[in-house]
Amino acid sequence: MSESSVWKEKFEQVCQYARETSTLASVGALLDWDESVLLPLAGGEHRARQSSLLAGLIHRRWVDEQFGQWLDELAASPLASDRHSVEGATICQLKRQRDKKVKLPQSLVEELSHTSVLGQQQWVEARKRNDFASFKPLLEKMIGLKRQEADALGWETCRYDALLDDYEPGEKTANVRRVLSGLRDELVPIVAKIVDSGRRPDVSMFEGNFSQASMIEFSRVMAERFGFDFRRGRLDTSPHPFCTSIGPNDCRITTRKTPRTFSDCLYSVLHETGHGIYEQGLPVEHYGLPPGEAISLGIHESQSRMWENQVGRSFAFWQYALPQAKTTFPKALGNAALDAVYFAVNDVCPSLIRTEADEATYNLHILVRFELEQALLDGDLSVDDLPAAWNEKYRQYLGIEPPDDADGVLQDVHWSAGLIGYFPTYSLGNLYAAQFFAQAEQEIGPLNEAFGQGEFGLLRDWLRTKIHCVGQRYTAAELVEQVCGEPLKHDALIGHLKQKFGPLYDVSFD
Ligand code: ZN
Repeated sequence: MSESSVWKEKFEQVCQYARETSTLASVGALLDWDESVLLPLAGGEHRARQSSLLAGLIHRRWVDEQFGQWLDELAASPLASDRHSVEGATICQLKRQRDKKVKLPQSLVEELSHTSVLGQQQWVEARKRNDFASFKPLLEKMIGLKRQEADALGWETCRYDALLDDYEPGEKTANVRRVLSGLRDELVPIVAKIVDSGRRPDVSMFEGNFSQASMIEFSRVMAERFGFDFRRGRLDTSPHPFCTSIGPNDCRITTRKTPRTFSDCLYSVLHETGHGIYEQGLPVEHYGLPPGEAISLGIHESQSRMWENQVGRSFAFWQYALPQAKTTFPKALGNAALDAVYFAVNDVCPSLIRTEADEATYNLHILVRFELEQALLDGDLSVDDLPAAWNEKYRQYLGIEPPDDADGVLQDVHWSAGLIGYFPTYSLGNLYAAQFFAQAEQEIGPLNEAFGQGEFGLLRDWLRTKIHCVGQRYTAAELVEQVCGEPLKHDALIGHLKQKFGPLYDVSFD
């Protein structure tokens, strides 16, 4: 046998092993989906046993010595020489993921998982009772564990790098800090000007009498129009909207069980549709291996935000969608004017709650969290001082102050679950979305006319060839360079916001 066919055989062995691990993981994804959508309350305890047994099996497969040896050998072989080839990316990404898992001591993994479960329970209670003090010891413990985790994984210039890498592989804190602080410096005065304009749309048209079933059906039609393939996916309801992939032809999205308003239902679906179109666009032939998987949370979020905001909140989208909405909801929207609807879906107003924030203020919520969690991890801020620091940043960036901790520092589940380094990926998504969309229009031409006619395939196909089919063959930083010819920047997002909100609020930003 020639040397190259020996390598090929070994590579096939590794792929088969990794695909089986992914298949097991997809069973876990199905259990998680079921837990959110269907599981009866009393079934929770047995589900926890199923999930933790499965997680243990998957972990054991990852740290398996033989698998590690194969990967080490292949990493030194000619197959790994081009990191962007299917073979090279498979080997490098699998090795990278395995090395991280091997570095974490079993005892730390178990303590983190236990503390995360406990943390989420305590957080629910603390938020309900507006009682930060009762949650404090657990948060302190979690920060301590996350420091240990970062140190076990290893880092060079800053500890936060080690945690960020889980969600945004290869990205560095210093780079994210540079881009996000540039964004903050331009965004704070933009939001202040919008607020000072004194203009506010009338959003009451969305709060009227919409039946739950028709809201979901309307949203479903729009999702399908955007390109979500319902032969390979589903739409259900859950307490919080999400998107998950159970297999190469089984992508599931959800919308809130009890939507607050019609627009809440629609935009949750359009957001998850963006995630779903990305999952459905990944190359099926590489399913279960890195070239068939999404690059990072930031790139994933860029797809959801683009369909939600750049498309779904555009004037052109409503030119297409409003006549249909009027037919479906004649009582509530029969008399609604296009301009008024467009203004209403672009209501900008500094608010306390991140998940309800509009397109313009959203990133300021993220900046607060990103800055505070770095300070907590570095020991520059104590958990004792966290609520005050939180409130101070809300005052500085959004001009408002939370009346209590429940709608302040206690509003997100992330820290209680040990998800530190996760928040910035939401803003990275918004930044990438703006850069990709600007590039798409530069290459295809303005998309408004097509959107106005309900034609979204031009954008979807562009995303498919430029982003979805890449899988993990490039990092997020490499992808944006390759697609847009420039690194991650805040200019495109600021440009998009100024262009949209200047005319709507009758303000000039220059
Ligand atoms: Zn999302």
